[in-house]
Amino acid sequence: MAKYHSLLPVDAEGYYGRFGGAFVPEILKNNIEALREAFERYVDDEEFNRELDTLLRDYVGRPTPLYKASRLSEHYGTNIYLKREDLCHTGAHKINNALGQVLLAKRMGKRHVIAETGAGQHGVATATACALMGMECTVFMGEMDVKRQHPNVQRMKMLGAKVEAVTSGDRALKDAVDEALAYWCAHPDSFYLLGSAVGPHPYPEMVARFQSVISEEIRRQLLQAEGRELPDYVVACIGGGSNAAGAFYHFVGEPSVGLIAVEAAGEGIDTPRTAATLHVGTEGIIHGFRTIVMQTPAGDIAEPYSISAGLDYPGIGPLQAYLASTGRSEVLAVTDGGALAAARRLAREEGIIPALESSHALGALDVRKFAPDDIVVINLSGRGDKDMDTYISMMDRG
Ligand SMILES: *Cc1c(COP(=O)(O)O)cnc(C)c1O
Repeated sequence: MAKYHSLLPVDAEGYYGRFGGAFVPEILKNNIEALREAFERYVDDEEFNRELDTLLRDYVGRPTPLYKASRLSEHYGTNIYLKREDLCHTGAHKINNALGQVLLAKRMGKRHVIAETGAGQHGVATATACALMGMECTVFMGEMDVKRQHPNVQRMKMLGAKVEAVTSGDRALKDAVDEALAYWCAHPDSFYLLGSAVGPHPYPEMVARFQSVISEEIRRQLLQAEGRELPDYVVACIGGGSNAAGAFYHFVGEPSVGLIAVEAAGEGIDTPRTAATLHVGTEGIIHGFRTIVMQTPAGDIAEPYSISAGLDYPGIGPLQAYLASTGRSEVLAVTDGGALAAARRLAREEGIIPALESSHALGALDVRKFAPDDIVVINLSGRGDKDMDTYISMMDRG
C-alpha cells in the first residue's frame, strides 16, 4: 500500500503490477528519495491543495467544459462528449501537472526547475508555471523538435525560460529526457519537472495525481448533463500517458467504464515508422522504470515515429502498461492519416482545431464502433495552434 491516498493500484515502491519502480543511478537516489518524501507529505495536505485548486480555477480556467459534440455524435451514431483540456491556459492539460510540481518544488526550497519537452507543450507549461512563481527555468528539447515546434520555442523564451537544443541521438524527446536526467545528476539542487506519467517513482503516480482533476470533473459534469457519473467509455491518446492517467484516474476502479488508450501508429504498426509502444514493444527499462519499450532485436531502444511530436516516445507510463497488460484498458492504434482525417472532421463539424496528439484519440471513432446509446468521453488534451504548419502542409497534399 502507498503511504498516501491513491485510487490507482500502486504499491509503496511505485509498482503497478510488474511495471514501474525506480531504477536510478546512485547519484540520483537522494534526489528521488527527497522528492518521494515531499510528494507523500504534501499530496494530501489541505493547504497545498487549496493553493493548487485556486490556481487551477483562477489561472488555468478550470473546470474545463465537458462539451456534447452533437454533430460529431450524429456522424458516428453515438453520444460523444469532449473534455476540453484544449481550453486550459497554455493550450493543453500539461499545465495541471506543471503547477502541481512547481508548487512542490517551492515547498522543497528549490529555485531552479529543469524540464524536457517534445511537442513543446510541457516546456511552455513549465516555463509558464516558473514565471508565475519566480523560478529559474531550463527546458531541454531535441533539436528536431525545436525545428518542428518553433512557435512553442518562441513562447518559452518570451516566458523567460532557457531552451537547450539537444543534438545527441535522434534529437527528439527521448534524447531530451536523457539530457535533462544528466543535467540533474550534475546539478542535484535543481528540481526536475517531468511532463508525463513516466520516469522513476514517484513521478508516474505524482503526474497521474496532478492530472486526476480531469476525471474528477468529468464525473461531476456528466452527472449534471446525463444524470449519471459514469460514462460507458473514456478515450485518451497516449504518449507517455499523462492525459490518459488523468482522464482514467477516477474510473480505473469502476469496471463498467471502458478505458480506451490510443497510440500513435505513425505509418502503421506493421512498419518500423510507428510509436505504438504497447502494440510493438516488449518489457524493458527506460528512463528509470520498468515498462513496455520499443526495442531493436539487439535490445537497443528503437527510434519511434509519429507525425505528432508529443506521442513520439519509445516507452509508455507504467500505469498504462499495467492497464493494457491486465486487459483493463483496450488499446487502439491510429495512423498519421487517421489523425489528420479526425482533425479535419472536428474542425469542419464542430469548429474546434485539436492538437495532433488529441486527433489520435478522435481517430478512435473511425477504428472502433460504439453503440447508439453509449456515452463516450474523449479527452481533448490540447489545441492545434502549434500544429497549424503540419495541418496546412498535409491538407494541401491530400
Ligand atoms: C504532451 C501531450 C500529449 C501526450 O502526452 P501524455 O503524457 O501521453 O498525455 C497529448 N496531448 C497533448 C496536447 C500534449 O501536449
